[in-house]
Amino acid sequence: MHALICGSCLESGAWYRLGGGRAFADHLVPTITQAGGAARAGVRVERLLPRNGKVTGVRTSDGEDFRSDVVTSSIGARGTLDTLLPAGCADWFREIQALPASIARFSLFLGFEGDVEAAGGTRSNHWFYPTGEIDAIWSEAPGVTPPGFFISFRSLKDPAHDLGRKQKQAGEMVVWTDWSSVAP
Ligand SMILES: Cc1cc2nc3c(=O)[nH]c(=O)nc-3n(C[C@H](O)[C@H](O)[C@H](O)COP(=O)(O)OP(=O)(O)OC[C@H]3O[C@@H](n4cnc5c(N)ncnc54)[C@H](O)[C@@H]3O)c2cc1C
Repeated sequence: MHALICGSCLESGAWYRLGGGRAFADHLVPTITQAGGAARAGVRVERLLPRNGKVTGVRTSDGEDFRSDVVTSSIGARGTLDTLLPAGCADWFREIQALPASIARFSLFLGFEGDVEAAGGTRSNHWFYPTGEIDAIWSEAPGVTPPGFFISFRSLKDPAHDLGRKQKQAGEMVVWTDWSSVAP
C-alpha cells in the first residue's frame, strides 16, 4: 500500500477524482437517499449524545437531535473526543488523548490564468527540496524558509475542468509543518 501511494504521489501526482470534490457527494448521496436516509450539508454536529456508556445519537448546530443504533464519526478519534464528547466520559479517553499529534500542513491555494502546461506545470506533483533533506518539515515556521514543499495543479489532473476563455487553472502549494506551530 505504501509503495502504491508513493508511486502515485511521486510519479503521477496522486489520485484525483474526476469533477472535483463534489463528485464524492454526487456519487454517495443517491445511495443514502435510496436507502431512506438523508444528507445535510453545512450542518455541524455539535456533540454526541451518550447514554449508559454508549453513543446513541447526535445534536446538530441547529438544535436537532438524531437518535440511532449506530453512530460513526469520520473526524478522527482525537477530534471526536476533544470536540464532541464530555471530558472523561470513557475509561479509554486518556489513552486517545495521549496520542501524539500527527504532521500538520500549510496550504496556499493558487489561481492562474494562461497556459500553465507551457510554463512547466504537469499532472504530477512538483516537489522542491532545496537542501536535499526530504524528511525535513517546517519546524520553525514562519521564522525560517521552509526546507521543502510541493505544488500540484489540480485543474490539470481533472479532464472535466472547464478552462474557460481566460484559461483559469488552480494550484496548491503544501508545506509540512510541526503541529506546535499551529496549535492553539
Ligand atoms: C495536504 C494533503 C494532500 C492530499 N492529497 C491527496 C491527493 O492528492 N489524493 C488523495 O487521494 N488523497 C489526498 N490526501 C488524503 C485525503 O485528503 C484524505 O485521506 C481524505 O480527505 C480523508 O477523508 P475523510 O472523509 O476521512 O476525512 P476529511 O476529508 O477530513 O473529512 C472530515 C469532514 O468532517 C468535517 N467535520 C469536522 N468536524 C465536524 C463536525 N463537528 N460536524 C460536521 N462535520 C465536521 C470536516 O469539515 C471535514 O469536511 C491529501 C491529504 C492532505 C492533508
